[in-house]
Amino acid sequence: MAAIELRGLTKVYPGGVRALDALDLVIPDGEFFALLGPSGCGKTTLLRTIAGLETATGGAVVIGDRDVTGVQPGARDVAMVFQDYALFPHMDVTDNIAYPLRIKKVSKNDRRDKAAEVGARLGLEHLMDRRPGQLSGGQQQRVALARVMATQAQAFLFDEPLSNLDARLRLEARTFLKKLQRELGVTTVFVTHDQAEALAMADRMAVMESGHIRQIGTPAEVFQRPANTFVAGFIGSTPMNLLDGVVRGDTLEVAGCKVAVPAAAEGRLSDGGKIVYGVRPEYMTYSAEPADGALGGKVSIVENLGASHLVTLDVNDVNVQAVVPEGSEPAVGDDGYALPRRDRALVYLDGELV
Ligand code: ATP
Repeated sequence: MAAIELRGLTKVYPGGVRALDALDLVIPDGEFFALLGPSGCGKTTLLRTIAGLETATGGAVVIGDRDVTGVQPGARDVAMVFQDYALFPHMDVTDNIAYPLRIKKVSKNDRRDKAAEVGARLGLEHLMDRRPGQLSGGQQQRVALARVMATQAQAFLFDEPLSNLDARLRLEARTFLKKLQRELGVTTVFVTHDQAEALAMADRMAVMESGHIRQIGTPAEVFQRPANTFVAGFIGSTPMNLLDGVVRGDTLEVAGCKVAVPAAAEGRLSDGGKIVYGVRPEYMTYSAEPADGALGGKVSIVENLGASHLVTLDVNDVNVQAVVPEGSEPAVGDDGYALPRRDRALVYLDGELV
């Protein structure tokens, strides 16, 4: 097992697309690290460059204490699971799992033993004679994982390994993968476009945009204190309210209302300055009665989230959203007031967190 370090890693594709732009990143030994970002931001390129399936055009990839930048994929000692699992359709589960060992010229008996051991660990013991076409999506995914585990690589690279599973299986696989990674303690880089998955599984994560890393942190850090308006707008199942505002003495004017300066920004803003005020809908206290420091308006939409409701208020022609507990949701057309939590609200100056 080994740490992964990227130093100024750059990938420019023929034709000029700069998919990775001088990335620096250290993933400590044993960490479960998620790469998250919108389509085309460079996640897959980053993973493939670590694996050696793409050649870096600048910078270095270091695995453990070895600079592997110029090293062939097979000699890097990392194992990658792809979105489509890439199982061999004509081989049974045992042979699929044992395939990398065959390449490494491990004896047939040892290959079978290892495949049986890893297969059992992943609950595949009764399926070892089947071919991939005779397995469900979830089972195929486990075979792909078993194949990776059988190689005993220094690091695992996963490219959206859960994306072919249905919603329920996906949740199960998430818990399973996380537990497995903990037990094995193998450094793992996991690409996903599903932020719930990244938040739930990762020890730390990076949010990427256009070949750059916009923030690195624990899921809690990235969720609660997005470093810039890009990450703030990207992370969260209900998007953060990002509202233009102006500093007015010791308060902020936001959507025509007076709100308190968030605790974290106190004493750090200049009077008259333009800011963006950020607060998650989950961090609003909703009321039908006016309150000091609340954003007040008319209810324009009420969406059912299951155990709560997402209420959209029209506050002087600006949309403001608040999550309201089940049972106390208003009706469209009602007057409503959303009071931001001062310890959770954020201020962005020129796009960066204050
Ligand atoms: P997605 O979530 O859609 O899979 P991604 O974040 O994994 O996207 P990449 O596949 O790494 O993004 O692509 C990054 C950028 O590089 C995109 O602009 C893409 O169009 C470009 N790109 C990817 N592969 C190639 C290639 N072989 N040749 C030229 N450009 C490429």
